[in-house]
Amino acid sequence: MSLSVLSVASECAPLVKTGGLADVVGALPAAIAPEGITMRTLLPGYPAVLAALGSTQVVADLGPMFGGPVRLLAGTGGGLELLVVEAAHLYDRAGNIYLGPDGRDWSDNPQRFAALCRAAAIIARDGADGWTPDVIHGHDWQAGLVGDYLLADGTRTPVVITVHNIAFHGLADPSLIGTLGLDPRRYTREGYEYWGKVSALKAGLLTATRLTTVSQTYADELMTPEFGMGLDGVMRHRRDALSGIVNGIDEDVWNPATDPDITPYKTPAKKAANKAALRAEFGLPDSDGPLCVVVSRLTHQKGLDLLLEALPTLTARGGQLAILGSGDATLESAYRAAANDPNVGVRLGYDEALSHRLIAGGDAILVPSRFEPCGLTQLYGLRYGTLPVVALTGGLADTVINASPAGLAAGCATGIQFHPVTADALRGALMRLCDLFAQPKLWASLQRNAMKHPVGWGASASRYAALYRDALASE
Ligand code: ADP
Repeated sequence: MSLSVLSVASECAPLVKTGGLADVVGALPAAIAPEGITMRTLLPGYPAVLAALGSTQVVADLGPMFGGPVRLLAGTGGGLELLVVEAAHLYDRAGNIYLGPDGRDWSDNPQRFAALCRAAAIIARDGADGWTPDVIHGHDWQAGLVGDYLLADGTRTPVVITVHNIAFHGLADPSLIGTLGLDPRRYTREGYEYWGKVSALKAGLLTATRLTTVSQTYADELMTPEFGMGLDGVMRHRRDALSGIVNGIDEDVWNPATDPDITPYKTPAKKAANKAALRAEFGLPDSDGPLCVVVSRLTHQKGLDLLLEALPTLTARGGQLAILGSGDATLESAYRAAANDPNVGVRLGYDEALSHRLIAGGDAILVPSRFEPCGLTQLYGLRYGTLPVVALTGGLADTVINASPAGLAAGCATGIQFHPVTADALRGALMRLCDLFAQPKLWASLQRNAMKHPVGWGASASRYAALYRDALASE
């Protein structure tokens, strides 16, 4: 049976991206099409989204919302079937989609994403140019209010909410309840109230027919106080509705054999040209140790402060680091200082092409995250024979097979995992990395295992398709 799904998200690659959420939202429609699912993606009308739309059609006038006119547009962009919420007063802003020039959340973020959710609920109720979704798939807090708006309208379309990162709750002051058009009777513990605030994420977690997150381990972790970030009780309450579906990567974009940003290769032995080019680009000298790379937001979550502490252990063994990232000012300046070491190269900023050159040129990719719902860069690393060195948490636990004595004996290891997530344990992992790297035959076998490891969407797309059908059947 074919099924129509409306995907609702605040970002979507290749149009607008701040993190892995965008990659997933951008990849899912094509990945899921073979399962008989027609997916259209509803996005805010940021300048980059409007610019990417080809010929557009005004599908509906959604009336005034939050101080300005709102229209629903339909068109294609970035290879996707899009529905776009055009609302210049909410979305026509330069710079980051979530943050103002002062680096803080736009003060009207509750309204900006409530408009997205309201538009989704109207599409579910009235359809969009004759197309009506059977299921809505919302991503993170920005889609959290869809369920409340459906309830208010009496629309029974099932909603699947995926938690990509529970750290972001989408909080709003309760004085906005009327403005946002929420039912004040649902401002309770059983509804969207969260410690005296409105939580769009909690609203979504409680109203969704099914909940998913992006790995099974993160699903388990979310039910614990350590990782649930204040919503572990809600997650335990919804345990029966919750499942973990690991992200895939776009295997066309991340394919070492065809990648236009690198010297293409099919076997790990042929990575050498990329490694030499990367060393030259980062001004790193020749060395016998492993060239480690990082492509990441520079935040506490990503554990890159731990890497700064552990770096001397790596460089003392002849290892090197090339890092691309941006984020916290203190981490940025600490890495700038770390680059005084000739074996450490740092690029601060966001650069897609350079991220490909790093993943192709590195021997190992480091992901020492304190928590990691899924993580994508370790998957890129696997595909490119660039062995992941990862914290044992979330999706990093589920996608890498540790080169423990047992993993090595079984001949299936694809990388290195460490636990707990401390500088000491990371030091230990970097020593293990150097030991393995010093054994070329063993290293090559790990690279071959990594490159064979499935990292595409196949299995996960089937699981999403089954979940949509299950959500629909349960209504
Ligand atoms: P998160 O979504 O928490 O940032 P993920 O690993 O799920 O982490 O996804 C991060 C995505 O953003 C990956 O596609 C990664 O390659 C990309 N990325 C992160 N930082 C940079 C950067 N500085 N330059 C280019 N790409 C980056």
